[in-house]
Amino acid sequence: MKYERSSALFEEAKKYIPGGVNSPVRAFKSVGGTPIFVKSAKGAYLHDEDGNSYVEYINSWGPAILGHTHPEVLEAIKLQAEKGFSFGTPTELESEMAKFIIDNVPNVDQIRMVSSGTEACMSAIRVARGFTKREKIIKFEGCYHGHSDSFLIKAGSGAATFGTPSSAGVTQGTAKDTLNAKYNDIEDVVELFAKNEGEIAAVIIEPVAGNMGCVLPENNFLQKLRKLCTENGAVLIFDEVMTGFRLAFGGAQEMYGVDADMVTYGKIIGGGLPVGAFGGKQEIMDCLAPNGDVYQAGTLSGNPLAMRAGLSTLQLIKKDENFYKNLEKNTETLDFEIAKILNEKDIVHRINRKGSMMSIFFHTNAVSNFDEAAKANHPLFNNFFHHCLRNGVYLPPSGYESWFISQDIKEIEIEKTLEVVKKFEYSNK
Ligand SMILES: *Cc1c(COP(=O)(O)O)cnc(C)c1O
Repeated sequence: MKYERSSALFEEAKKYIPGGVNSPVRAFKSVGGTPIFVKSAKGAYLHDEDGNSYVEYINSWGPAILGHTHPEVLEAIKLQAEKGFSFGTPTELESEMAKFIIDNVPNVDQIRMVSSGTEACMSAIRVARGFTKREKIIKFEGCYHGHSDSFLIKAGSGAATFGTPSSAGVTQGTAKDTLNAKYNDIEDVVELFAKNEGEIAAVIIEPVAGNMGCVLPENNFLQKLRKLCTENGAVLIFDEVMTGFRLAFGGAQEMYGVDADMVTYGKIIGGGLPVGAFGGKQEIMDCLAPNGDVYQAGTLSGNPLAMRAGLSTLQLIKKDENFYKNLEKNTETLDFEIAKILNEKDIVHRINRKGSMMSIFFHTNAVSNFDEAAKANHPLFNNFFHHCLRNGVYLPPSGYESWFISQDIKEIEIEKTLEVVKKFEYSNK
């Protein structure tokens, strides 16, 4: 494959945009090489500026669960666009969207729209703090909740219970209110609650993690968190920006049967347009302005084009009884068949999978937290990634990301993917 035009466009982009990208993972820094510049996408395929096509496993990091540029969603956006792009006033469409979500997901009495997952998570912890009148939050190493300051905090060294900024520009003052626990380690959480009694406003978690590769909750971890939060009067926030409407219509809450106090959404909920949302129990959502004293706002929040794209996507999913069953079946086939091929090649690996999320770790141990994810053979993943890319299969450009399977990944695409995996030669350079 040729990448001449992508390479030239990347050089050009770097002149005007920091690193040439508007979100760092797109720059291929983790896997090396030059990112492909995409011209268009349809169904299961991405088409780049050099005329190459790829079977798609990122799907805009989740939103394109129906496949790219779904004709009915496209039509809905066109019809809405005729009526106007943005008003900055209330619209009936916003209530329609909110009602549809509330009617179909657990534990959301009210919901507010924002424009990104970052905003959703940032706002959710502000509401949780306002509601509990407490300041500290607990999050988990390897989970991602967007780039607001409170989340860009890693575990402190040694015996320190408070965190340190993981990004320049985040203050120590902010860091001291964010505590990090190990994913799947309930004792860690018990200890943090004990050391910070009466101070924890919220526990926020990716109920199935997708931002350290796909990592599943084990040994009733979510149920145990639920219990701890209830006992300690802390708000349990499920960050379902990835898992919402992907694992099941009601997300991880429905799949694991665990009730969260608050839920954040993004990605699929916008159908490819910029949308996030946060919702929860009535008494918590009552704290928000204009009713309550927790301020939160957005000029483009509830944007009609974004609402229309999101609502039509959710309605199409809801209409298809076998939607999640089919997605899961195809993902399972990918998992089993890829594992079979890698085993025949004696390439040590672990595949983690839930619903239509999966990832491959080239690692001997099971991966159930960030430490194990980090110990996987990432240089080998990078080789695997580039092998797939060269052969027309587009995987997430990092071993710390989940793959997202869309409904348009069918037998033909799976077959093509397996052919490419068969050609992979182990080389650890
Ligand atoms: C993507 C993501 C976010 C951030 O959403 P943006 O729209 O990129 O701001 C937050 N939480 C999780 C779990 C995510 O996967």
